[in-house]
Amino acid sequence: MALTARHGALTDIGLHRKANEDAFLVAPPLYAVCDGMGGALAGEVASRTAVETLATAFGEGRPLLAAAEAANAAIYTRACANPEQSGMGTTLTAVALEGALGHFVHVGDSRAYLLRDGGLEQLSDDHSLVGEMLREGRLTVAEASAHPHRSILTRALGTEPEVAIDEFEVDLRAGDTLLLCSDGLSGAVSNDEIGAALGLDDPQAAARRLVSLARKHGGHDNITAVVVQLAAGDSTQVEAALAAGAPAAEGPAGTEPVLVFGGASDGGPGGAPGGEQHVRRRLGCLTAMLALAALVGLMGVLTISTVFYVGVDDGRLMVYSGLPAKVGPVRLHAVYRASTVRYTSLTPAQRLLVDQQDLRSRSSAMAMAEALGMWR
Ligand code: MG
Repeated sequence: MALTARHGALTDIGLHRKANEDAFLVAPPLYAVCDGMGGALAGEVASRTAVETLATAFGEGRPLLAAAEAANAAIYTRACANPEQSGMGTTLTAVALEGALGHFVHVGDSRAYLLRDGGLEQLSDDHSLVGEMLREGRLTVAEASAHPHRSILTRALGTEPEVAIDEFEVDLRAGDTLLLCSDGLSGAVSNDEIGAALGLDDPQAAARRLVSLARKHGGHDNITAVVVQLAAGDSTQVEAALAAGAPAAEGPAGTEPVLVFGGASDGGPGGAPGGEQHVRRRLGCLTAMLALAALVGLMGVLTISTVFYVGVDDGRLMVYSGLPAKVGPVRLHAVYRASTVRYTSLTPAQRLLVDQQDLRSRSSAMAMAEALGMWR
């Protein structure tokens, strides 16, 4: 059956972040959401590069998977050429409609949902430490949703020369509604609320309702929603669902491709960063902690036993207590527990986690060591 698509889209900085590193793409029949990561605005560069490259490559006739691979290469190449953007990356969740077929590609912890006959189904798997533990049965859904490290990604676009991209197809029907969203939405809004919002007649009203709910529930992260409603009709027809004069962060009416980046958010006032330590904030955190380390060194007060991280010594993985830094000749860390597992035995995604040297509590660092298989 041929289907007609109507869309709505919105991105919002949320209530606690200083910048919006999310981006979305509305270029019917292609739709995408990206959630960038990296310090010094690199997350914004990564998500913007992803949607731009995806739109261009797909528009040139390349298959969706090849377009996503091109986006990965574009981000990685740019990061290699700009040391201050080293390590930047982004999630990517995208769908291309082809007749009644939804063709998806996915990397990271942004999500694709399907609302069908009132039932909500998550179509994508989260490529996150918590998502993997959930699939392995080591966490319950409730534990996963409240886990302090639910933002740690195991796969991202642009952080390696090549990336494993999930690709899947879904047979769509008239009456189906698709949602692509960043974790600032899925982490804050319940499935019941998402289902109810997607049931609204107007897809733009649905996107607004979802963003509003995420803000109401704390707005701790950037929030992005792309809603696509399908109805019976000529598949070549794409109706615009948006009113004229929409805010800049919304996808405007029409069939022209729309790339919206977080910087155009209509969100509320940017406040201080949230209390959670996210990977997406890692560079800023590290800088702050190094400044703290210098202060500690100058004062001669080496009270460094309360923070931990996973690092590498002579090629082998270690849990360290302290800070990954030196003040003059003084190392501000010590081996807390040594492993015989070699760094080179890790997957690229696991190496990324180690490379980040996120500061953690002792229990968190040991949990990460466990997840990396350091005691095997
Ligand atoms: Mg996010």
